[in-house]
Amino acid sequence: MTEFANKDLLQQFASDNYAGICPEAWAAMEAANRGHATSYGDDPWTARAADAFRSLFETDCEVYFVFNGTAANSLALASLCQSYHSVICSDQSHVETDECGAPEFFSNGSKLLAAASADGKLTPAAIHELATRRHDIHYPKPRAVTITQSTETGRVYTLKEVIAIAGECRALGLSLHMDGARFSNAAASLRSSPAELTWKSGVDVLCFGGAKNGMAVGEAVLFFDRALAADFDYRCKQAGQLASKMRFLSAPWVGMLESGAWLRNAEHANRCAQQFALLIDAIPGIKLAQPVEANAVFVEASEEILDALRKRGWNFYTFIGGAARFMFAWDSDPRRMEVLSRDLFECATAAKGV
Ligand SMILES: *Cc1c(COP(=O)(O)O)cnc(C)c1O
Repeated sequence: MTEFANKDLLQQFASDNYAGICPEAWAAMEAANRGHATSYGDDPWTARAADAFRSLFETDCEVYFVFNGTAANSLALASLCQSYHSVICSDQSHVETDECGAPEFFSNGSKLLAAASADGKLTPAAIHELATRRHDIHYPKPRAVTITQSTETGRVYTLKEVIAIAGECRALGLSLHMDGARFSNAAASLRSSPAELTWKSGVDVLCFGGAKNGMAVGEAVLFFDRALAADFDYRCKQAGQLASKMRFLSAPWVGMLESGAWLRNAEHANRCAQQFALLIDAIPGIKLAQPVEANAVFVEASEEILDALRKRGWNFYTFIGGAARFMFAWDSDPRRMEVLSRDLFECATAAKGV
């Protein structure tokens, strides 16, 4: 076989999904590759992964494995709604801004009702306002709420905040969905148990992200209210999300959950974000756009500074949260973080007017 290596060997911090596969997930995939196994999820790896989730979450939830977060969110929300229903979300949420209409598509038209939010978080008051704004037949009937933990803006809902949102949902008869593409970062940040962060606080469905946590691919959909999972397997199949060689989606979860890598990886990523924020703290002409609570650092700087940073070869997004975003992953290298912070310092001090 021809040797092949990533040309771009130097670490970037544009996204946590730039990282590769962590050793625990890789080892489990390799173990799953020894010999044959039954297809479509009827294999020992898939059963073991689902059990690992049940023991981590201390409850007998329904567990499904899909390829990515857009599918997990969309199919989970579709299972909560009829086509004439609506889903309340933040205007910064991935379902609203980054899923190309998939939640509406897979629910046959359930409308997203987005609440304006500067920090990406929903509040009970915002939910109440959208859910009770109208009661007439012409308004899409509110049926579910979705919150992202940790948020697209790198923020974390406290347990108290989740409980307050869940209370509002109960009072209004709405189901509560959690987009946990970075659930592990929130768990590492809050140091609360996964059970407390979800069903014990009133979350009905969780999409638990694997890719950003150190896997190649895959998200798990956990229904704590098992009745909501009715026919979810058919939804997955119809959406092209039923993996025939399911063990390669599920085995990495066994590696992640049984070894504790899911939490260690997130702790490392969060620690790197904290360290990076400290490294750039005193640089003139820049400031943090959000407090650092998980694995993201959002930097406000002039276009001149950001352009100079790009010219030095750094990749980053500015279309999320209105600032330059730097994301840290399970393998983020503190030495590369130092190079980035030094480059940022030099670009900022060279910029006019500083
Ligand atoms: C990355 C991400 C997802 C999943 O995105 P896919 O590319 O579809 O896997 C979902 N929600 C949030 C908040 C994300 O950051």
